[in-house]
Amino acid sequence: MEGCVLVRYGEIALKSDQTRKWWNKILLNNMKDCLEKNSIPYSSIKVTLGRFIVYTDDTVKASDALKNVFGLASLSPAIKIEAEFETIKEKSLELSRGKGKKFRVSSRRITKEFSMTSNKVNEELGAYLKDTLELEVSLTEYDFEMGIEFLDDYAYLFTERVEAYGGLPIGVQGEAICLVSSGIDSPVAAWLLMRRGCKVDLMHFKITEEGYQKYLKIKKMLEKFSYGYEIKEYVVDGVPYLSETKKKLCEKGKDKWVCIFCKKRFLKEAEKLCQEKEYLAIVTGENLGQVASQTLKNLILLDSSVKVPVLRPVLTYDKNEIVEMARKIGTYEISKEKEPKCPFTPNYPVTTGTKEELESIERSIWQ
Ligand code: ATP
Ligand code: MG
Repeated sequence: MEGCVLVRYGEIALKSDQTRKWWNKILLNNMKDCLEKNSIPYSSIKVTLGRFIVYTDDTVKASDALKNVFGLASLSPAIKIEAEFETIKEKSLELSRGKGKKFRVSSRRITKEFSMTSNKVNEELGAYLKDTLELEVSLTEYDFEMGIEFLDDYAYLFTERVEAYGGLPIGVQGEAICLVSSGIDSPVAAWLLMRRGCKVDLMHFKITEEGYQKYLKIKKMLEKFSYGYEIKEYVVDGVPYLSETKKKLCEKGKDKWVCIFCKKRFLKEAEKLCQEKEYLAIVTGENLGQVASQTLKNLILLDSSVKVPVLRPVLTYDKNEIVEMARKIGTYEISKEKEPKCPFTPNYPVTTGTKEELESIERSIWQ
């Protein structure tokens, strides 16, 4: 008998053999990185049909850390035994003790070496556990589930299933740079792109010290998901540009344009990075209509100022949905910490900026 974690993966299962092999290799590498970064000793990771099996003594800690590796669907700390019904009964009995009154058995043959069908195992093992431990079978409302997966000549027994985040292994898509503030939305945007397999690095414009300190904590939280690479960061002092620009805009009576100038500057700096470091896209946490400056017209206007694609993964979500994701990721508690308001935001930001007007103001203030 050996302690292990049974790891199920998500969308990769739908890919062609060739893609699956390639992605599995990356996923395996990311899982190893996760175990090493969390100082969890393991003896090996076996890749089998549809499952990874991680051999470790610390199965609970390993499942908890590995659930943050993108590309995985769920994990179960398990024990591995010979696929032999008497042994299965004996070990299931041990695992089921003290887990509650109502239960069900869920077995599955991933490969078909074991001769009993899964229905038969469910019935016979269910009846045995019920009678021996005086339990009650309930398929819908149960205190615990006795899980069994048959794979090659072994049975893997478990009573826990830790849900992971799905997505694709980080590294199967390209690299992108995310503009991350201290707010709720942009950390979620970075996380969503990471979850789809991108290596996402971060660019932060420091406007207040409090905002910067929050950003640093957000970065730490994102690092709990960035397995397979190290997040790089680019921190730029945003104050000199914004002070000068705001002053000039005020002189021309155009201070309601500050937010557009600010966001355009962010994009232009990120675009420069894309050219230097070969990032494929810029990611932002902008959302349609959430604040006065984030109108569809303004976002299109901003897009026209750069040649690199701007991805906005939270564009269409309602605020409560973004908050829900931020809570799950662990960034919400950081983002909602109080900080001074941006000192440059005007009372009434422009909502329907046009390219012609923007260019004309730029000419007038920079001449
Ligand atoms: P967030 O919650 O992500 O800060 P927001 O709704 O507060 O978003 P804005 O402050 O208008 O919106 O910012 C829009 C986007 O610009 C952010 O989602 C982020 O991508 C980027 N951004 C804003 N402030 C900064 C900053 N200080 N550094 C880097 N990027 C920033
Ligand atoms: Mg913000």
